[in-house]
Amino acid sequence: MNAFFWRCLKGFSLLAAVSIIVAWATENEYGLVVLSTGLLLWLLFHLWHLRALLQWLHDPQPDKIPDGYGNWDQVFSLLYRQSRQQSLSQKKLANVLERFINAGEAMPDGVVVLDELDRIEWFNPMAVEHFSLNRKQDIGSQDIGSQIANLVRQPGFHAYLTEQQYSQPQILRQMRSGGELVLSVQLVPFDSTRKLLLSRDITQLERVQTVHRDFVANVSHELRTPLTVVGGFLETLSDMPDVDSQTLRQFLPMMMEQAKRMQNLVEDLLTLSRLESNPISSAHDVVEMEDMLRTLLIEAEGLSQGRHQVVLAEVAPINLSGETSELHSAFGNLVSNAVRYTPEGGTITLRWRIAGKGTDHERAVFSVTDTGIGVAREHIPRLTERFYRVDRGRSRGTGGTGLGLAIVKHVLARHHARLEVDSELERGSTFSVVFPSDRLISVEDSEH
Ligand code: ADP
Repeated sequence: MNAFFWRCLKGFSLLAAVSIIVAWATENEYGLVVLSTGLLLWLLFHLWHLRALLQWLHDPQPDKIPDGYGNWDQVFSLLYRQSRQQSLSQKKLANVLERFINAGEAMPDGVVVLDELDRIEWFNPMAVEHFSLNRKQDIGSQDIGSQIANLVRQPGFHAYLTEQQYSQPQILRQMRSGGELVLSVQLVPFDSTRKLLLSRDITQLERVQTVHRDFVANVSHELRTPLTVVGGFLETLSDMPDVDSQTLRQFLPMMMEQAKRMQNLVEDLLTLSRLESNPISSAHDVVEMEDMLRTLLIEAEGLSQGRHQVVLAEVAPINLSGETSELHSAFGNLVSNAVRYTPEGGTITLRWRIAGKGTDHERAVFSVTDTGIGVAREHIPRLTERFYRVDRGRSRGTGGTGLGLAIVKHVLARHHARLEVDSELERGSTFSVVFPSDRLISVEDSEH
């Protein structure tokens, strides 16, 4: 401020001094002319700068600031500094805002910002999916400014919005072309008048909970029947203090059969839970397939008790990398099913072969073919579900737990293998396990 004052004072003093000297030299004739000309020039100098300032203010960009002289130079450089700072902080704010918007758009949950009258101010792409909102462009969307209650018409949502009890989420269900969509929505007040509407797709979670509930119900149901039978026998026996050995001989095998059924079920459940709790198998034994097939053949003959013809038709000279006991249990389940679902006189054929040899899709296939009752086409996709049986009575009658193929599915997933089922009702089935080439070891390599 002082510099400004002194600079002005210096200018005026100079002009006054020149005017006085001229007045003195010309005996008063031209002193006033010099003074007024100097003042006029001074006025023009400022008007010229003022015009430049006004022009710049119409489009105040830091790099277009005009050049100035004297005090104006100082004014313009201060303006330049301020407008630069302002544009930098504007850029920073725009960046922060963009980052927030990008984060909001990338969120896996739906987000809708509502104003004090529950009108939509902003929403992200997930909210579009959850509430079928219209999002042509960020600002151009016709749903911006609409009442949320007019767009989200699921029963219960309107009450949730008006009751203002937002501490608990609300579950909304809606039918879509791909099935039911279950959303958990919650309103979160912020900024004293605004609200955030958050939505999360819990369809999958609900499905898992339903499967879990069904599983518990199935297990209880499976255990209840043998338990009731054993309990009934025990009650009868306890009412007969002098029970004779013939009655005992009649009851005990039946009780043992039920106990065995429960034991099988518990064993299968434990196997399944062990497989499920660790979906990746860490073991890489060399599974000697010839030995495995011979063992399976003996086991099949043991189960069949001479009622079927069991054939080992093909044994490729290929071994597998995996866990021997798990694969034995999976193959054993397929063999045991073939025996159990093939009437007397039928044939069961085991094969271990290479398919697509020499191609990019070389694979090894273990298959069990039977001439049994077969499975109707519509049941095939569901056979590996836990407790899924085509004929409940037949399965139980032959000691089935309904978990065999579920176990097979888990074991195969741990070995990157897949199950293929080819079956025809009343003619028989082929259950094939297909192993990718990276699991195969030639017999010569296994010997080294
Ligand atoms: P289960 O203990 O009932 O045999 P699984 O999971 O092993 O349970 O098999 C599921 C269902 O698949 C069986 O109940 C049966 O209906 C059908 N199934 C499995 N293997 C065969 C087969 N080889 N022939 C006909 N049906 C079969």
